[in-house]
Amino acid sequence: MKIALYFKQNKLSDEQIAEYENKIVSYGFKLDHDNPDVVLFIGGDGTFLRAVHRYIDIVDKVKFIGLNKGHLGYFIGYNEDEIDLLLANLKSNKCHEESYRLLKASFSNSEIYAVNEIRIESPFQTLISEVEINGQKLETFRGNGLVVSSSLGSSAYNKSLSGAIVSPKLEALELTEIAPINNRIYHSLHSSLVLDSSSTITLKPKTSNIIVGYDELIKDDENYEYIKFSLSDKKVSLLYKEGFNYIRHLAETFTED
Ligand code: NAP
Ligand code: MN
Repeated sequence: MKIALYFKQNKLSDEQIAEYENKIVSYGFKLDHDNPDVVLFIGGDGTFLRAVHRYIDIVDKVKFIGLNKGHLGYFIGYNEDEIDLLLANLKSNKCHEESYRLLKASFSNSEIYAVNEIRIESPFQTLISEVEINGQKLETFRGNGLVVSSSLGSSAYNKSLSGAIVSPKLEALELTEIAPINNRIYHSLHSSLVLDSSSTITLKPKTSNIIVGYDELIKDDENYEYIKFSLSDKKVSLLYKEGFNYIRHLAETFTED
């Protein structure tokens, strides 16, 4: 099995990198940064998101496994001191695997993929955008922005906006508003909207200079005729410690002291 080590630049010292690489080799794995079977990411959720985008072209063929290093680590199965356990579990095929469909946004001449969410934001001017679901007009939105989240991403930015946390086993798209204007004249749904996996959401922004953000990335164009969101057929696979329990995971992340 070929393993790539992934971490944020300058987050690990040369000695630490060498130590992890030696460990990987000592368990009989090969190091391969271009064509790995498994990407071992060390850091936090942000590191996982970056790792997925680094390997987006082969995302269907690789599995991701994480070692937490000083972060929240929602996506991560193993604690910093468990590198031996992680490698031993990998060796004996003892990890618990979950696969999740990536979100996709299509533009007139390009497309992007994301794990957590894809969003449009307009920090300086009120964003005005038509919102269509499955080709049917829902509303004209006015506010700071709109977030389309995957189930997996529902506990990230979407949660800060009071969107519902959706079990990652439910394949869904969730549309959530950022600071909507709602008064006698302007109306938007206001509640966050959870849609089934075959749905499409199309935004037609009327404002120029909007920002399209996806996971930790920003798309660099500025004007868009439309953006069409859907769940893609590309999947990302995460390996957890055996005995993974979703509700315990939520409790450990959000509710326990
Ligand atoms: P960041 O500022 O470090 O991320 C914000 C926090 O969200 C971090 O604590 C991160 O964990 C955590 N996180 C990421 N994905 C999560 C998930 N699916 N469920 C629960 N928590 C999650 O930035 P980043 O590390 O580059 O991550 C980019 C993400 O930040 C975006 O995808 C977006 O969801 C989120 N974000 C949130 C807000 C907000 O809540 N107001 C605003 C912008 C972006 P780690 O500490 O382990 O990295
Ligand atoms: Mn982070």
